[in-house]
Amino acid sequence: MILTFLHRAVLLTALMTSAAGAYTVKPGDTLFSLARTFGTTVAELTRLNGLTGTTLEVGQVLRVPGEAAAPSPASTSSAPGPGPAAQVLPGVTVTAPAALRMGDAFALRLSGPRAAEARVRFPSEVGEDVRQPAERLTPVAAGPGVHLVLGRVVLGKTTPLVYEIELDGEVQRRSVPVTGLAQPVQRLNLPPSISGRLQDPARVAEDAAVERAYARRTAPLWTQPFQDAVKVRAQSSAFGQPRTYVAGGPVQYHFGTDYRAPAGTTVSAVNDGTVVMAGQYPVRGGLVIIDHGAGVTSLYFHQRRVTVKVGQIVRRGEKIGEVGSTGLSTGPHLHLELRVRGEGTDPAGWMNRLWPK
Ligand SMILES: [Zn+2]
Repeated sequence: MILTFLHRAVLLTALMTSAAGAYTVKPGDTLFSLARTFGTTVAELTRLNGLTGTTLEVGQVLRVPGEAAAPSPASTSSAPGPGPAAQVLPGVTVTAPAALRMGDAFALRLSGPRAAEARVRFPSEVGEDVRQPAERLTPVAAGPGVHLVLGRVVLGKTTPLVYEIELDGEVQRRSVPVTGLAQPVQRLNLPPSISGRLQDPARVAEDAAVERAYARRTAPLWTQPFQDAVKVRAQSSAFGQPRTYVAGGPVQYHFGTDYRAPAGTTVSAVNDGTVVMAGQYPVRGGLVIIDHGAGVTSLYFHQRRVTVKVGQIVRRGEKIGEVGSTGLSTGPHLHLELRVRGEGTDPAGWMNRLWPK
C-alpha cells in the first residue's frame, strides 16, 4: 500500500511539474484561480502573457511560472500533451506536444516578442505522401501573446516529426516522437454495385474540386471549440483504419471517422466556416466541405440531402444536411473528416477544443 501511494505521489508530482511552462485554459478558469494554482499573482500572469484584460478563453495557452523546472520531453512521453516551453530563438519560445500519434493534428505554440515574425516548416514531410510538404507557414494569432502553427502527422509512418523555426535567416530544428495506431487491416469486400462508383468517370472532377478546397489558405474563422457533427456516439469505423475496398485491392487508410445514425439524422457544422463544396458526388455522395480557415477543412460524406450552398457562411452547430447512404457507402452513416492542409487528422483530437493538442 505504501509503495503504491509513493508511486502515485511521484507520478502526480511529475504530471504537475510537466504542466509548468504552458497551461491551456479550461472552462471555469480565471486569472485569480490560475494564480493560486501556480503559486503566483494575477499581476505576474498578466505580465508574463502580455494580457490587456482579465478575460480568458477556453483553449487559450498561457505561460505560467516554473519553466526552468520543467522536465525534459523524455520524462513526459507517457503522458501526451504539451511538452515544456523552450526558447528556440531570441524572442521566440515554442511549446510542442511531447509525443504524437499517426494521424494527429497538433499545434506548435509560439510566444515571445517575435513569435509572429517566425516562420515554421515541417521538413520531415518531405518524401511523405502529403500535399505541399514542408510548406513555409506563418503563425496565426491565437489569443493574447500566443501564435500557433497547425501540424499534421501523416498516416502510415512512425518516424519522428521534425519542425523547423526560422527567424532572421537563423533556423532551429526540433523533433517529436511518433507512435503508430496498431489497427489490423479491415477487408470491406464491397459488392460491385457499390465499388463500381470508384470507377465513375465523374470521379476525376470530384477529386479535383476536393483538392482545390484543400489548397485554400484563409484566416481562421472560428472562436469556439469544435463540436460533434451528429448527436450519436456509435462509431462504425475508426479513424486511421487501414482497409481494402475490394478483395485484393490496395490498402488505404480511413481518413475520417464513421458515425452510424438513422437516415435523416441532422448533420451540423463542427465549427464556423465557409461552405466550399456542397452537392452529390459519385464517391463521397452528398458532400459538404467547410473551410474553417488556417488550412482546416471539415468534410461530411454520404448525406441523403445537403441543405447549404457554396459560399454560405455557416455557424458552429448549424444544420448542413442529413445522414444518408449515398456514394461509396453500404448503410446510413456520417463519414466525418477534419483535415489540416488537406491531410486527414483524427476528429477526436478536435472535439471540445479550440485548437488540437
Ligand atoms: Zn468512412
